[in-house]
Amino acid sequence: MDLNYIIRTKKFKTKKSLGQNFLVDSNVIDFIAKSTSSFDEILEIGPGIGFVTEKLLEKTKKVVAVEIDKEAIKELKKNLSSYDNLCLIEQDILKTNICSLPFEKEKIKVIANIPYYITSPILAHLLGEIDEETNPNRNKIEEIILMVQLEVAKRICADKNSKNKEYGQLSILCQMFCDCEIIKIVPKNCFSPVPKVDSALVRFRVNEKPKVKITRLLKRTVSAIFNQRRKNIKNSLQNAGFLGVVEALEKIDIPKTLRGENLSIEDIQKLSAALEEYN
Ligand code: SAM
Repeated sequence: MDLNYIIRTKKFKTKKSLGQNFLVDSNVIDFIAKSTSSFDEILEIGPGIGFVTEKLLEKTKKVVAVEIDKEAIKELKKNLSSYDNLCLIEQDILKTNICSLPFEKEKIKVIANIPYYITSPILAHLLGEIDEETNPNRNKIEEIILMVQLEVAKRICADKNSKNKEYGQLSILCQMFCDCEIIKIVPKNCFSPVPKVDSALVRFRVNEKPKVKITRLLKRTVSAIFNQRRKNIKNSLQNAGFLGVVEALEKIDIPKTLRGENLSIEDIQKLSAALEEYN
């Protein structure tokens, strides 16, 4: 914990409604800055009053920072006026077209410590939907370093062998398009005000292509098997209105009694492809 950061946070009136828990641990801030190279162009989502931003500006070619809070923008302008490689944009990231931001390079990196209640919408905004072969925002991004609740980080990186129902729709969406890895666990006392739960930094390396071929019924299949995760796959799919479920499962040799959470992304894709014949 860095006293200087804590004092500056206390002087600023943080807004709970915007999830303003600022990172005040210089080791974690340095760790984030070190994860980028000096040639990168970076989009920082939710810079707050600029503790991470300042470190990024010292290291990289250009930072475009999108912040929704007018008061935070004022503070950023005051504190970071000496940097000519910063572009501040007062805007809601969920309404921002990433391709329209003033970057020169074809691909950018994204760094985001965002309010946890918008983790899923932000991921959907940056990566697109499960069944989108290409997406303009995703195409623009090479890598994302995202701070999320530890429990959500585990869900993002989970696979069919993970415990505690961690594997689900969020794991499929993220791993469909990216290699995902927890790169640092960040205890709650690294933030001010201190939140209720611990966090983790997740690195998403965005792949050129989706992990599996996208089929017409992929999205519907994924939501059917995970929305009713206590049921076996046969019942979940039939309850969701799919026809030819038994035939499709037999065709690809998947036992009817398994649950969705026992299937890999590849298995789910095969299942959705087999279902196409009957739906
Ligand atoms: N990056 C800073 C840090 O690490 O200390 C601040 C992180 S704080 C958890 C989240 C920041 O995101 C706040 O400054 C908040 O105002 C901003 N924010 C919240 N919703 C946003 C949105 N929809 N678009 C852009 N920024 C948003």
